[in-house]
Order: sequence, then C-alpha cells, then structure tokens
Amino acid sequence: MAKTDIQIAREAKKKPIQEVGQKLGIPSEHLLPFGHDKAKVSADFIQSVQDRPDGNLILVTAINPTPAGEGKTTTTVGLGDGLNAIGKKAAICIREASLGPNFGMKGGAAGGGYAQIVPMEDMNLHFTGDFHAITTAHNLLSAMIDNHIYWGNELGIDQRRIAWRRVIDMNDRALRQITSSLGGVSNGFPAEAGFDITVASEVMAILCLANDLKDLEKRLGDMIVAYRRDRSPVYCRDIKADGAMTVLLKDAMQPNLVQTLENNPAFVHGGPFANIAHGCNTVMATKTALKLADYVVTEAGFGADLGAEKFFDIKCRKAGIAPKAVVLVATVRAMKMNGGVKKDNLGQENVDAVKKGCENLGRHIENLAKFGVPCVVGINHFVTDTDAEVQAVKDYCSSKGVEAVLNKHWADGSKGITEMAQKVVDLVEGGKANYKPLYPDEMGLFEKIETIAKEIYRADKVVADKKIKDQLKAWEDDGYGKLPICIAKTQYSFTTDPNWRGAPTGFEIPVREVRLSAGAGFVVAICGEIMTMPGLPKKPASEVIRLNDQGEIEGLF
Ligand code: ADP
Ligand code: MG
Repeated sequence: MAKTDIQIAREAKKKPIQEVGQKLGIPSEHLLPFGHDKAKVSADFIQSVQDRPDGNLILVTAINPTPAGEGKTTTTVGLGDGLNAIGKKAAICIREASLGPNFGMKGGAAGGGYAQIVPMEDMNLHFTGDFHAITTAHNLLSAMIDNHIYWGNELGIDQRRIAWRRVIDMNDRALRQITSSLGGVSNGFPAEAGFDITVASEVMAILCLANDLKDLEKRLGDMIVAYRRDRSPVYCRDIKADGAMTVLLKDAMQPNLVQTLENNPAFVHGGPFANIAHGCNTVMATKTALKLADYVVTEAGFGADLGAEKFFDIKCRKAGIAPKAVVLVATVRAMKMNGGVKKDNLGQENVDAVKKGCENLGRHIENLAKFGVPCVVGINHFVTDTDAEVQAVKDYCSSKGVEAVLNKHWADGSKGITEMAQKVVDLVEGGKANYKPLYPDEMGLFEKIETIAKEIYRADKVVADKKIKDQLKAWEDDGYGKLPICIAKTQYSFTTDPNWRGAPTGFEIPVREVRLSAGAGFVVAICGEIMTMPGLPKKPASEVIRLNDQGEIEGLF
C-alpha cells in the first residue's frame, strides 16, 4: 500500500534550518529559530536586501476544484524541487494552514506524496504562532470596541451597526451568531455578536498584503469597525487599537522558513480565506523570496477563476509584482468529473469524458491569457490515469496553443517534474510575459464586478439590487472607488451553482451583498452563499487524531 503523507513526511531527512537558510544566503544570526526545523527571517535582514534585483515569479493555479482533487500545493512544492534539481536557485511560497479545517475534513496544506513541506505536523498545527497572534490582535480590537461603549461611547457608535466580529481558529458553528454581554450592568450592553474563523479576519488579509510594519499599522487603522446613527464610519484608528495590534503582530509579520522533503527552502506565511479575501501567502514572504532566489514558485487558492484572478488583480497590482509564467494544474480525474463521470467511477478509463471535461481547462487557458502571462498546463499524474487519457489532455491543450507536461512529483519527487521545470525556465527566458491586470483602478466598482463576471466567468450579466449599486456608488464618493474587487463565490463552478461544472454559458451572476475591507484595500462582492465560520462534519478528523505510543501524531492526514 502507498505510504500516507504523514508517513512520508516522518521519514524526511531534514537539515537544520540554518543550512536551508544558507542556500538563500541568509546568515544564521538572521534566522530566528523555532526548534531546529523552522525559523522566522529577521526584519533587519529583509530590510538589508531591498536593493537587490527580483527573481522570477511563477504562479501555480488550477482548473475548478472537484472532489477528485487537483494538487496545486503538491505541484508548487514539486516544481520548486524540480527547479532546484535542474540547477536553479528556487524557493517556494505557500500559505499556512488553518487549524479549523484540519480537525474537520480538509486534508493537509503542506502538499502530498513526495512533494511535501516539512515539518508537516507543525505546519498544520500551531506552527510559529502567527495565526494565534492574528486571532489575538483581532479580538483585542473587539474587546476595545465593547469597552469604548461600556465607558460612555464617546464616538457615538450605533450598537446595532457594529461591523467588527470576533474570531477563533476553529470550526465551530455554535459561535456564528451569539448574544454577548449578558449578566447585568457590569458586563456591558447585551448585543448580537458572532465569530468568524481566523483566516476570514480582515487582519489576516492585511497581514498578507502589508509591505512593512508601518504599512500594516496604517491599514489596521483604516479598518471600519462600526457605524454611527448617521451612518458615518468609525475606524479602528478612532478606537486607538492600531498601535497595540501592530505590537501583537510584529513577529507574525516576519516570514517563516521551512524546507521541502528535498531540503529546499520554502516560505510558509499567511493564509487568508480565498472567498472573502484574496487567498494567497504574504506579500512580505513573496517579495523576500524574490530578493533571495532566482525562481519563486507560489500558489493561489481555488481554481484560476477565483485564485489566479485575485492573485493578479489584488496581490500583484497592490504589491507591484509580476509573474513570468503560470502553471495551470489539471488532472485526468478532474477532467472526467467535469465530463460528467461520478466520483466512484473515476478509476475506469473514459477518454470521451476526459475530452468533454477539457472545456473547463480550455476556459482557464483563455482566461489566463488575458493577464498577459504565458501558461503551461501541468497534468498531475494519478496512478489510475491511462496513457490514452493523458494523451487526450495533451492533444486538447495543443489545440488551444499551449503545452501540457505530465508531472509525477507526487510519486517521484523532483525527478518526476524536471521536464516541467525546464519548460518553466524556457517560458521565463522566452521573455513573453507582460502582466496586466484585468481592469484599471479607475473603472467604477460595479463595472469592475461586471468585467470579472463577463470576461472570466463568461456570465451574460450581473444582477444586483439598487441598494447594492447605491452602496457601491457611496463608497466611490467616499474615495474607495479605485479599490479592486474581491469576489466571494463558489470555487466549484464558473457560475454561482457549485454543481454546474464544465464551461457553462447563459447564466447570470447575482450579487447578494457587498462589503468594504477598507484596511485590506478591496471591496468584497458576495455572489451566492459564503461561509465565514465553517462547521465540523458528522465524523470530524479530530475523532481519530491522537498520539501513538512513540509520541507521534496519528490521524492527521
Ligand atoms: P490543492 O493545493 O489543489 O488543494 P494539494 O496539493 O494540497 O491540492 O493535494 C490535495 C491532496 O491530494 C493531498 O492529500 C495530496 O496528497 C493528494 N494528491 C495530490 N496529487 C496526488 C497524486 N498525483 N496522486 C495521489 N494523490 C495526490
Ligand atoms: Mg493548496
């Protein structure tokens, strides 16, 4: 039987983190170690390399996810190892894991098979404490808002219009809507309140987009926490929480360095939700990696319609970075599901279904071209794939004018992905990349939503109530018109119906609600149901997670 991810990870021959840092020229005094195999990179060192030229950024994205699994992280890690294997100085940048889903059903965030980041248990659990710092900073602000009201509410906050909730890094549906401050005068004013999961916090999005601590503090101050009766906003700055929050986040802002199974450097830092936030690792880590490596491979959450679009239109635009190539991950299994095959039948060869399902891949290929960055398709090989099925994907891609490479990093590590690594180098050296965002800053907010919906999802139109359009107009009048849009929508389909796979046409995108993330710097358009506090499934993974007699963690993937 194949080894599980955790078994493979446990057999890793890890190097001391100082040796991994050396590969990127980080002196050991600038690594702040957490044990032997994790370290933060000091802010001073990062400051000292700012005048260096940037390396080449590679984005890994995917088709719309299916229950068959795609393997973006696995490919990101494998490609980083593959680039190192062909002699390039390469680093990886991915997100940290949220605790909540780990105890539910999600599966790890450290890759899989022989393309993993270690120590994977730590990475999937408390790691270096960044998420706890974010939780604490977020809840400090919550406490200070209630405290402000308790002591007389000088700012005139309308208690019915408090926009700032609380967070915890756990899937706990009981906390979605609660009543707080019960129990009498000394406990404050009873109010409706609620919790989101930490990764949904605007503080997380800000930590991931901030360029430095000054920028972090300013953005925290810019967050809108409540409104007055006249609907004027009350900012975090008015509550005077921005300074103390920055203090709590000071260490969390420094990128975490760990290693792959093949001892190559990997930055694992930040982890915003990919629905109500932009879903990629920190700007701080990506920019640092670009100063230290010639190739930096990074991943964006969900499929390319959500993940890559936000990566380009939010992260790259804001951070002033531009990828040189995109790897679009697809699997034969996912093509089959897109072609109408049920999950239980994925093991049987079905070339026709693969061909039919390729239309989903094709639309992502066309969409990525709109950002001006050349793309190669990475077929993540599963043992059940047949040669005829793989060939069908390759033939389809060449009819679309892009190459597809079969990657076996999951089974073989770097040696299973050297052809792809070389292809990526060729794309970068070909110099074709000319990144451009999908829409200009100056475009109106509603027009931006329409542009994404029509150009990327291929909807006929966007429907929204007058109330929503008026709200967008009001934000434009208040000076927020230049912000990019962050769409919150199902990741499973181009439409808002998660069951509508393939490449649908003839549909509308309804905008149910809009939210302003004034500190993070984007306007969220909620299209369909979104969940900011997940629940646990009937049989949560936490029921089987335990320590064995050797003191090792069992049941975590
Ligand atoms: P994503 O980043 O797209 O969510 P991951 O790379 O995290 O996907 O992979 C999801 C899961 O699928 C992991 O548990 C991984 O081990 C598994 N997986 C990925 N690629 C393969 C493969 N080629 N064969 C078998 N399992 C795989
Ligand atoms: Mg992933």
